[in-house]
Amino acid sequence: MRTYQNLVGGRWQAARSGETIEMVCPSDGKVYAAIARSRAEDVDEAVAAARAVFEGAWGRTPAVERGRLLHKLGVAVLEHHEELAQLEARDTGKPLSQARGDITATARYFEFYGAAADKLHGEQIPFLEGYTVFTTREPLGVTGHIVPWNYPAQIFGRSVGASLAGGNACVAKPAEDACLTLLRIAELALEVGFPEGALNVVTGLGEEAGAPLAGHPDIDFVSFTGSPEVGTLVQQAAARNHIGCTLELGGKSPQVIFADADFDALVPVVVNAIVQNGGQTCSAGSRVLIEESVYDEVTGRIAERFAQVRVGSHEMDLDLGALINAKQAQRVQGFIDRAEAEGLPVLARGQLAEGLPEGGFYVRPALFGQVPRSNSLACEEVFGPVLAAFPFADEADAVALANGGPFGLVSGVWTRDAGRAMRMARAMRTGQVFVNGYGAAGGIELPFGGFKHSGHGREKGFEGLYEFTATKTIVLRHG
Ligand code: NAD
Repeated sequence: MRTYQNLVGGRWQAARSGETIEMVCPSDGKVYAAIARSRAEDVDEAVAAARAVFEGAWGRTPAVERGRLLHKLGVAVLEHHEELAQLEARDTGKPLSQARGDITATARYFEFYGAAADKLHGEQIPFLEGYTVFTTREPLGVTGHIVPWNYPAQIFGRSVGASLAGGNACVAKPAEDACLTLLRIAELALEVGFPEGALNVVTGLGEEAGAPLAGHPDIDFVSFTGSPEVGTLVQQAAARNHIGCTLELGGKSPQVIFADADFDALVPVVVNAIVQNGGQTCSAGSRVLIEESVYDEVTGRIAERFAQVRVGSHEMDLDLGALINAKQAQRVQGFIDRAEAEGLPVLARGQLAEGLPEGGFYVRPALFGQVPRSNSLACEEVFGPVLAAFPFADEADAVALANGGPFGLVSGVWTRDAGRAMRMARAMRTGQVFVNGYGAAGGIELPFGGFKHSGHGREKGFEGLYEFTATKTIVLRHG
């Protein structure tokens, strides 16, 4: 069994304490590796290494060269595609083909931000007679990246890809449940020529390694993706140092289906949007809102499809895999048990495949109908394969229901009426709205982030890149 170390200043090193954490495969509950259990002293070293290279070689690297390096990293990720997908699938339990898609998307982030690095233009601003004014986009310095376990490679790629393109040096803290893909990608970054210290990875527990990173006095920005509770702590820590942060938190994303929608098209998309990645997706389509007149027909068709969903190990590569750990599986099962005890109609359950490995963290997906609007399935994030269906009366009712609750990450609208599609898209209080579709193959180019308790700031696309830069205004008085 291999023990993985931190990557700090271009060197592999154990945690100063020498302690490690065992990695457990969600598919069979078996320990397969160990990682460094880092603490504040390890984070200090990583931040110091990042600071040194930012003030040295990396800070002097022209944008075009930063872009070339990111492009090379994208190529290297593709060259190691299968190896990385295997690591990602074993770490997270997700079906191998979904992990393969994640690695392809990760490479795309490096390609996209590599190509964007030399397009970070400022502007020239007309000002008083005798002045020339222009702006530049400056790197922030050292950026911290706290990454969750659900899409480790993609979330790491989008966040450090944008930060490095902007000229910053990075310290990443992956989730303790899923680290190995990030460590390998950071190793590839070193191999393709990023200077030592430009990209550091420190593994460990949230309170022991994540908190010291978020609150480190010598970082200039922190990018966090994870739970709303920890997001609050990260923002408080950033506020104490007067630095900025992006928070990508949870969701309770609605798909709104009108009577005139194309049911054939929407059924597989609606089911996939909640079972993909075991529903452990911040933008999972966990609520389906259906116009009353077609409620029975549409729920019937969704239920038929839902009942065919199969749960397997990552190697079996079925519709979804095990959930990330025992605690998460118990939590999700708890939502299902409570809903059943409350008497909510169970419209369908997915199936556990034959021959599942013993000891894995498997949960049978569940579709509930006629869910009361005050029920926990209407407003709490389950982060598992649990879909709640609600009838609505008309467009105004659909808007009220969709926008109800604390979150506002993503929404879907299904209708053939172009006017209604546009009105609904404008009315949704979510960072992304999909019309007659849902999700978009990674959506590397598409700004992504939340309204309300889903967080603030944007990742992906150019907006994600701008988050990692500061505008400087230069005023020349020349008479
Ligand atoms: P989490 O918030 O516990 O962990 C996320 C990361 O934060 C991990 O790396 C963890 O080690 C670290 N962390 C934990 N405590 C910390 C602390 N006190 N200080 C600093 N860092 C700390 O979340 P989770 O349980 O891993 O993930 C599930 C939740 O994350 C869900 O609610 C889900 O909605 C959310 N999530 C959101 C997105 C998004 O893009 N919006 C993506 C994935 C997950």
